[in-house]
Amino acid sequence: MSLQIALETSQLLDEAKKSILFTAARPELVMERGEGMYLWDTEGNRYLDFIGGWAVTCLGHSPEVIREALNRQAGMLINSSPSFYNKPMLEFASLLTDNSCFDRVFFASSGAEANEGAIKLARKHGQLNLGGAFEIITIINSFHGRTLAMMSATGKQQWGPLFAPKVPGFKHVPLNDIDACQAAINPNTCAIMLELVQGEGGVHEVDAEYLYKVRELCNEFGLMLIFDEIQTGLGRTGKLFAYEHYGIEVDVMTLGKGIGGGFPLSALLVKEPYNIFEPGDQGGTYSGQPLAMAVGLAVVKEIIDKKLSVHAEEQGNYIYNSLRDIARKYQLKQLRGKGLLLAFDLPEARGSELVSECLKDGLLINSPKPTTIRLMPSLIVSKEEIDAMIQILCGALDRLQIS
Ligand SMILES: *Cc1c(COP(=O)(O)O)cnc(C)c1O
Repeated sequence: MSLQIALETSQLLDEAKKSILFTAARPELVMERGEGMYLWDTEGNRYLDFIGGWAVTCLGHSPEVIREALNRQAGMLINSSPSFYNKPMLEFASLLTDNSCFDRVFFASSGAEANEGAIKLARKHGQLNLGGAFEIITIINSFHGRTLAMMSATGKQQWGPLFAPKVPGFKHVPLNDIDACQAAINPNTCAIMLELVQGEGGVHEVDAEYLYKVRELCNEFGLMLIFDEIQTGLGRTGKLFAYEHYGIEVDVMTLGKGIGGGFPLSALLVKEPYNIFEPGDQGGTYSGQPLAMAVGLAVVKEIIDKKLSVHAEEQGNYIYNSLRDIARKYQLKQLRGKGLLLAFDLPEARGSELVSECLKDGLLINSPKPTTIRLMPSLIVSKEEIDAMIQILCGALDRLQIS
């Protein structure tokens, strides 16, 4: 029996090597099933998942809430076309505006697409209100997605020379340096876009003081302020939205990842003064697609009803303290993050080795930089699962003699 499974898996892997466009080195296994904090491969091996589909599966793998919403909506209406309203779309948009500082929502399918909408809106604002200003200031080491414009917006040094020519009109400034931000503003500037905690960049938080000054600069020069909360949104940092930690108001916010709990879904949220698109400016075949709307509605309701942001904060503190307890022994440095978006640095640049070693013991963790390990489990993670993660992590650190 197990020999047969192994054979089938090796056939699947052979097939993958022939037919999947190569874009990433992937481990030699095929994922088949998920439940709660766990994934299983085709060999029946179980993995404790502290990547959570890259901060996506906020309710765990294949939760009842999503399965039920999918089944119910699939029996009613899967797609009507973006030309019509549908019921879950209206209900979902109201849920988001009722629970945030925003007035209007545009739905899309991926984070990059929501950010594209935000950038288009910023340029529209430049056209209408700032004499044609088009430049957007973004942050070095930020991540905003993989469309051509979002690769241009992203402040990742390695991407600089890729796919030239880049989309013009983005200026990158260092995080938490208000003088650099101010110096980058010129008559062509129409917006500033940033992450409150840089996710892909290795979990680096914006300073509150800096953020207040950025808000002031935006007020002074009439710039649109955009928060990319694709990774920080929907409870992950211990608040429903990370901007709530700072008590400041923002003009535009993008959501993705956790908003669909694994279903492809994203959103662009704006305040009424920026409800300025005209017909033809923005759209998309799957904008407000009923199936996605039903799932998003169910996911966000669940996060709010079950107060999962509070749980995320508690469990985040528990992980933080557990890591602090082992930090001295293994020379782990710079424990950081908010809620369930956490990271630490290793004493050596051996992140990918540690990821592979943990994988062997059935633990999934992420290394966004060679020295950095990032944890972003589902919001439903339990203390027992955290203890199990720490135990596997310590075993792997011991074997690799990292300390
Ligand atoms: C993941 C991510 C994106 C891109 O989202 P996609 O769904 O992959 O397009 C954009 N911004 C941030 C902060 C992200 O973490």
